[in-house]
Amino acid sequence: MDKIRTRYAPSPTGKMHVGNLRTALYEFLVAKHEGGDFLFRIEDTDQGRFVEGATDLIYRVLKKTGLEYDEGPDKDKGNGPYVQSERVKSGLYMKYAKMLVEKGEAYYCFCTKERLESLRTPVNATAEDDEDNKDVKEVRKYDKHCLHLSKEEVEANLKAGMPFVIRQNIPTEGTTSFTDANYGTITVNNEDLDDMILIKSDGFPTYNFANVVDDHLMGITHVVRGNEYLSSTPKYTRLYHAFGWEEPVYIHCPLITNEEHQKLSKRSGHSSFEDLEEQGFLPEAIVNFMALLGWSSGTDREIFSLKELIEVFDYHHINKSPSVFDMNKLRWMNGEYIKAMDDKAYIEHALPYVKKVITKPLDLEKIAMLVKTRIETFCDIAEKIDFFEELPEYDTEMYVHKKMKTTKESSLEVLKDLLPGLEALNDYSIAGVEAFLMNYIAEKGIKNGQGLWPVRTAVSGKQMTPGGAYEIMEILGKEESLRRVRKAIEMLEK
Ligand code: GLU
Repeated sequence: MDKIRTRYAPSPTGKMHVGNLRTALYEFLVAKHEGGDFLFRIEDTDQGRFVEGATDLIYRVLKKTGLEYDEGPDKDKGNGPYVQSERVKSGLYMKYAKMLVEKGEAYYCFCTKERLESLRTPVNATAEDDEDNKDVKEVRKYDKHCLHLSKEEVEANLKAGMPFVIRQNIPTEGTTSFTDANYGTITVNNEDLDDMILIKSDGFPTYNFANVVDDHLMGITHVVRGNEYLSSTPKYTRLYHAFGWEEPVYIHCPLITNEEHQKLSKRSGHSSFEDLEEQGFLPEAIVNFMALLGWSSGTDREIFSLKELIEVFDYHHINKSPSVFDMNKLRWMNGEYIKAMDDKAYIEHALPYVKKVITKPLDLEKIAMLVKTRIETFCDIAEKIDFFEELPEYDTEMYVHKKMKTTKESSLEVLKDLLPGLEALNDYSIAGVEAFLMNYIAEKGIKNGQGLWPVRTAVSGKQMTPGGAYEIMEILGKEESLRRVRKAIEMLEK
């Protein structure tokens, strides 16, 4: 078999939607699993949808996620340019469109906007009809009016400089079939397909045309797409056949939905790589999660590095039914990745989040390390460490703990007992504080909780804290720990 070649072909129209990222990842894995090539091509022929900066963003995401491409705009291996707007300049798409005109598989259309508006047969929504592109939904099935122009009429119109588009000529009878690796053989009635535009009036190809030409010229063997493209695929099939080119293997992936089983929309707040990054998720965890969003390894195992995914990823195990974006699962997974990070990398990543909350001269690295195994995303850090910056207002009811066997009175007694010793203590390291407190507990003959609960409550003002009294006091230091214990005594005496 020839070497597998896949491509990621995004349109620079904004943030990197998770569906696009999943496509990129699967394209990468399909190729790498078989030692093939992964290409990166920018599909920017729809100039109206172009968003400034979106291309840079795609590069950034590919880099961050480790989806290294073998060929791309900045890695030309002789199949370039890899940016469609640059390919347009060579007249490439026009040349191929004209070849189809010659074969009777396409035709010039000179219809005015007004005439097209007057056509009233709606066609099924196409893949390009997303929420940002509502106008496309207005497209009507074209009535082949210009197919019937004579050769002379066409030439005269072209000579007169009349604006034109080139349309695919789809038979009105019969059927078209293609086979998808995931969804099997799909057959549609040709009468349900419209004569889609191949070349637009601005001379640019449509995405629908350019992707076929480019995939062929770039030797693409496998095409991974979201299943919203299934309805357009028969038209691509007809183009491949019209040219006499071999079709790639199509691998359509299931829709990604939110937990309410609706299409994951931009409004969900976590529909793009950037959203997730902002919410404190690690690129590695996002990649791992994306891999399982529509594919399973066939085992219970869920944690896979990109390298491991390359080994195990078999596209025959992509699911057909919609994949639910389970935020809790992503959070859990991210927590596992955080725990597994080496401390240096973790601290580097966590410090900016710590600095957002802590302005006092405390040991920020220690604070970061204290929460390492206790967070699921980096954004959880703030809420876990805020008490270091400032003792929160709290209710003395917190000293009452059934399991710890503490009451307000017993807590007050413990804190008052401890205060002189804490004032005299100079070693506020974890070991120092531990030795002091455990000594007191042993002397008093009380349970650990009876001694430690009041102290931890006093120095944190919180019911739940990362680390116990020793860790917290080491970070706060002597002065602040004492201030908090005194404050607790004052509150409990009221
Ligand atoms: N440019 C298309 C997109 O961004 C690519 C679809 C495809 O993979 O063919 O959705």
